[in-house]
Amino acid sequence: MSFQLPPLPYALNALEPHIDARTMEIHHDKHHQAYVTNLNNAIAGTDTEKMSIEDICKNISKLPMAVRNNGGGHYNHSLFWTIMAPNAGGAPKGKLAEAINSAFGSFDEFKTKFNQAAATRFGSGWAWLIKNAAGKLEVCSTPNQDNPLMDIAEVKGTPLLGIDVWEHAYYLHYQNRRPDYCTAFWNVVNWDEVSKRFEK
Ligand code: MN
Repeated sequence: MSFQLPPLPYALNALEPHIDARTMEIHHDKHHQAYVTNLNNAIAGTDTEKMSIEDICKNISKLPMAVRNNGGGHYNHSLFWTIMAPNAGGAPKGKLAEAINSAFGSFDEFKTKFNQAAATRFGSGWAWLIKNAAGKLEVCSTPNQDNPLMDIAEVKGTPLLGIDVWEHAYYLHYQNRRPDYCTAFWNVVNWDEVSKRFEK
């Protein structure tokens, strides 16, 4: 079995003006495709071929660095495309909104914390909203293509929402202004999908 690039669930230009079509095209069709291709090459002929991408992440300490980088890249980007949507943004509702208020004080305080994690991740990586083993929400960040599912992660949990802060995610449109990209991101967050992940 080999991993496949999932199709984008919307058009390349659907997230404009917040994320431009050219960035989406290169990001999905080139970067994500490369993680999938390199992951498949790295696991070809090994038992890892029989594992789900989630199980690969959970056992990453036992696997080669190429699997960590490219398997993480595949998991992270597959999640990233689904937690964004056109005509989205706004605020979370229902149980997720209650959990955010209880963990962070308010939605605004959560956003500040998440933006801070994204802005201060040095170099390339991701910022996350996760549900930890105790069922509580936390904000954290990971370097490179690591993620909180990985057994090597400093803060572990199930990713509910993630933002890619590699320069390839924003440089064409925002150049060095990572905080502007992080601010714009809130306009495309697909809270229905994040809620679904939270309630699962
Ligand atoms: Mn990326």
